[in-house]
Amino acid sequence: MDKGKKFYITTPIYYVNARPHIGHAYTTLVCDAVARRKRLLGYDTYFLTGTDEHGQKIERSATAAATTPQKFADQVAAEFRRLFDRMNISYSDFIRTTEPRHKQGVQELWKRLQEKGFIYKGTYTGQYCVYDEAYVDSAKPGDPCPDCGRITETVSEENYYFKLSAMAEQLLKHYQQTPDFIRPETRRNEVIAFVKGGLRDLSISRSTFKWGIPVPGDPKHVIYVWLDALSNYATAVGFGSKDKDEQQKFERYWPADVHMIGKEIIRFHCVYWPAFLMAAELPLPKAVIAHGWLLFEESKMSKSRGNIVRAETVIDVLGNDALRYFLLREIVFGQDGSFSFDAVVQRYNSDLANDLGNLSSRTLTMINRYFGGSIPYPSPLVAKKSADDSVREQAQATIVEFSELFDAYQFSRALESAWALVGSVNKYLVEEEPWIVAEKEGEENKARLATILYTAAEVLRIVTALAHPAIPESTAKIWNQLGLGDIDKFNLAELKWGQLPLGGKLGKVEPVFPRADKSAIERMQRMEQERALEKERTGQAPQTESAAASAAAQSPATTAPAAPQPAAVTAPGASAPADSKISIDDFLKVEMRVGQVKNAERVKGADKLLRLEVDIGTEVRQVVAGIALAYEPEKLIGRKVVIVANLAPRKLRGLESNGMIVAASAGDQGLPVLASFLEDVPIGAKLK
Ligand SMILES: [Zn+2]
Repeated sequence: MDKGKKFYITTPIYYVNARPHIGHAYTTLVCDAVARRKRLLGYDTYFLTGTDEHGQKIERSATAAATTPQKFADQVAAEFRRLFDRMNISYSDFIRTTEPRHKQGVQELWKRLQEKGFIYKGTYTGQYCVYDEAYVDSAKPGDPCPDCGRITETVSEENYYFKLSAMAEQLLKHYQQTPDFIRPETRRNEVIAFVKGGLRDLSISRSTFKWGIPVPGDPKHVIYVWLDALSNYATAVGFGSKDKDEQQKFERYWPADVHMIGKEIIRFHCVYWPAFLMAAELPLPKAVIAHGWLLFEESKMSKSRGNIVRAETVIDVLGNDALRYFLLREIVFGQDGSFSFDAVVQRYNSDLANDLGNLSSRTLTMINRYFGGSIPYPSPLVAKKSADDSVREQAQATIVEFSELFDAYQFSRALESAWALVGSVNKYLVEEEPWIVAEKEGEENKARLATILYTAAEVLRIVTALAHPAIPESTAKIWNQLGLGDIDKFNLAELKWGQLPLGGKLGKVEPVFPRADKSAIERMQRMEQERALEKERTGQAPQTESAAASAAAQSPATTAPAAPQPAAVTAPGASAPADSKISIDDFLKVEMRVGQVKNAERVKGADKLLRLEVDIGTEVRQVVAGIALAYEPEKLIGRKVVIVANLAPRKLRGLESNGMIVAASAGDQGLPVLASFLEDVPIGAKLK
């Protein structure tokens, strides 16, 4: 039974050790745009995304957050799902690797690999990177991991191995025979070089932790997280199911047409995954397409740099389509691309608010005004100009060009070609001056006006249809305003010049892209700062490096130092709400200032306390701080410190303390480490 052409596309499944950020949003919205286009072209499209939830990192993070791995995973998976729903991502399925359907499929794949003789047991002793969940063959005990720089751990494990070494020839043959399997070309060359360098058997089980899918018949072991995770692409469409419908689903959709991934996981998708599938005698995905990294203002986003941007920030201020358009248009797909709030606002204003927004509002407003809201009849005979023909010809060429580029994953160039058409028709309107023609008397002028506005409206329709997969929300509105109904019912495969229904009634005409002013950038920056603060404050869910560090920073109540994170400096009397989150307003009640130590001495009879005189710009304060075990008083003189300036005075050992010095609490002993600045800061500067 043929139900027409199918298209199956996947995002990577996202590891729940990190909260969703704009990088995840990018991969997902690219897939969404591709899936939407395929649907409009009439493909039976299956679009899969989901979360990767097993492994030692999750087990450890859950322990650190005092919860179970399952609850930890539930929480973060829900965050991903919330983001994708907020982004209006049109996924068909969201798979979680902790679901029974997935576990059963992975175990089935294991059994097949075992039956076909590709699994054996062996012992491994060597270095292991917990963060990357990978053995580091080249490292000696104490060496850092070459990928992430963290110190590797020595492990000795009896493991199951997959005979990866046996697959090298078959893999190379596949790369050669199917040049489109890995894209872009640079990634393909990288993979070929890696396989040619020799493949070693791959350890595919772990017995040092429990959070994973048990190895069939040997539940002391759990299945290696990458074998587990990669299988999702097959288990989501029913692989390993006993259910007849699910089996049919697998028959229908497997193999996947596209696995879309970030370039850092190319080896897993282009070497390991096809090797597993070949060994299990299952068809291989048709293509693995790797995109580059999203850089924030030129540097890689990372937790340690603290420059991870959330998609919601752009969405809240400018809307989904602004984010989608920017990422698809600005980044050359496959290469690294830079993201900044300035650039997003600039793109939004120039391409959406100005170019497309103006074309739409001008054209539709004039049709309303001069033709009572009915699409005018262009006159093929009277008052026709070559300018009309050249717009029409460009539109026809754009349909072809846009489609070729978009289907070749060159989103940026595809949108560029559509916007070149928008630019041409805007220029055409300026030159043909329909508003002047409308002032003139006579049938000929009326016919000329009709032709101009019909031409503009037809271009608007074509661009709207082409751009719909990229910017679905705004194009759906424009389509409606053109009086064309539900854009998702349109058959994009039939798009051509001249389909605008003559005499058709426009819908209600409203602006679609309100201009963004300068404050949009500031608003986004402020939101990011507030979100970062909120995250640090709540300290729940995924444990970031900084959160892990601050979790250890608890200072004894009798001494003055406090951890630098805002949660520890709540002003007296300000009680936190039940869920332990406070609003930004609560945080702003705390006044932190830069001060300079003018004088310092030990407090008699208290070996932890120092009496300090701190200049905070407006006055010199006496502060008693519990930092004597870590700091010699004379060495503090002249040093700049952070103090909480609006803390109610309190007495320590008979001395009044007017403020609190901000310090981290480090190590098992909880030794204080004073907060300080790399740059020079003026005395009295406020922290916010
Ligand atoms: Zn590592």
